[in-house]
Amino acid sequence: MSSAAFDLTGRVALVTGSSRSIGRTLAEGLADAGATVVLNGVDPDRLEGTRRELADRFGEERIAARAFDVTDEPAVTAAVAWVEKEIGPLRILVNNAGIQHRVPMLDLALADWRRVLETNVTSAFIVGRAAARVMVPRGRGKIVNIGSVQADLARPTIAPYTTAKGGLRNLTRAMTAEWASSGLQTNSLAPGYIHTAMTQNLVDDAAFNDWILGRAPAGRWGRPEDLVGPVVWLASDASDYVNGQTIFVDGGMTVVV
Ligand code: NDP
Repeated sequence: MSSAAFDLTGRVALVTGSSRSIGRTLAEGLADAGATVVLNGVDPDRLEGTRRELADRFGEERIAARAFDVTDEPAVTAAVAWVEKEIGPLRILVNNAGIQHRVPMLDLALADWRRVLETNVTSAFIVGRAAARVMVPRGRGKIVNIGSVQADLARPTIAPYTTAKGGLRNLTRAMTAEWASSGLQTNSLAPGYIHTAMTQNLVDDAAFNDWILGRAPAGRWGRPEDLVGPVVWLASDASDYVNGQTIFVDGGMTVVV
């Protein structure tokens, strides 16, 4: 197989939560592989700043942005309709938007439990369904759900996050069960501990930082750039017979005790 199988030229990709951190790097990686990218976030100013920076690099016609909340069903429906009308047929969706909330379960409020579940897993259903509604009739499309090592592992203080990411792993399988026969490939990319805004407080915690360096066989935190090769693969023709899988990109953390 030549590298042409990884070429995304002319394909429209929506990356949720791409105004910063991992989502932004994934969006840049997809654009680098040729895709026309639609960025997303909730803060319109941050989103516009990122759009401008990426447009400077890849060209105005290759980078679009749409602010919406991934948990807001009418906003998601309108956003996908806008992409189809203004940008082009949606070919790639990366469900990346997510939040963390670290509180021991005994003290965890129901509203916070619901907020984390809504943002990390219900959103993937809402945006994934909207995307599949335009992809299925065309008989092609790629959906990449951004999971976590917490799809498989638990840790104290992050119960709703662990529950959501485990659910996302099975949602990936459910999407495969229903949409693979229509030519869609749905997979999950599950990062290990990546140094971003979400994990800055953990990097700053000397004990936790030491634990990561010892616990990950790779001996370091992951970088958003470590996820680019795998996401381009899962978004491209090179993964056309890869269905429903969760690919851990974690420096080996989930295979070693
Ligand atoms: P950040 O907190 O750094 O960035 C989150 C992004 O998601 C921002 O662009 C934010 O937009 C957006 N976002 C948050 N809520 C919503 C919403 N309701 N609707 C639309 N956009 C939203 O997160 P990371 O980059 O660290 O994480 C990205 C993904 O990777 C998440 O799914 C996370 O669970 C996963 N992950 C992260 C790991 C890590 O170590 N960092 C490890 C494993 C998985 P805005 O800028 O407008 O707030």
